Amino acid sequence: MKLICLFLGHHWDYCICRRCSKTRDQHHKWDGCKCQVCGKTRDQDHDWNGCKCRRCFKIRDQHHDYVSVGTHEEYIGSENQGGVEWGFYENVTTYRCSRCGHEEKNRSGSTRVQQDGIV
Ligand SMILES: [Zn+2]
Ligand SMILES: [Zn+2]
Ligand SMILES: [Zn+2]
Ligand SMILES: [Zn+2]
Repeated sequence: MKLICLFLGHHWDYCICRRCSKTRDQHHKWDGCKCQVCGKTRDQDHDWNGCKCRRCFKIRDQHHDYVSVGTHEEYIGSENQGGVEWGFYENVTTYRCSRCGHEEKNRSGSTRVQQDGIV
């Protein structure tokens, strides 16, 4: 703190003192969710670009930009039908958000495969 601030009080311009650069947590100059003066962020008025805020880079669990990263089969179980052992597999496609990396799995249909060696 500069002596002049000590005697005269701070010279506040929004949330910052123009003389000694001290900041206070009030009277911010909000530009959406971010203070233009001190860079503090608040959890409102975000500038969403899909799931990510352009200003403070906060992530929300909505509006992800999913791209498919692969499909695989997941074993569910087996069942004996008419003396034949069948294995059931589900098709699982994994999607990943290109902005934040959030993953989502989409299960679509199942396939039936005759198990090896058991007839
Ligand atoms: Zn000051
Ligand atoms: Zn501020
Ligand atoms: Zn934000
Ligand atoms: Zn995302």
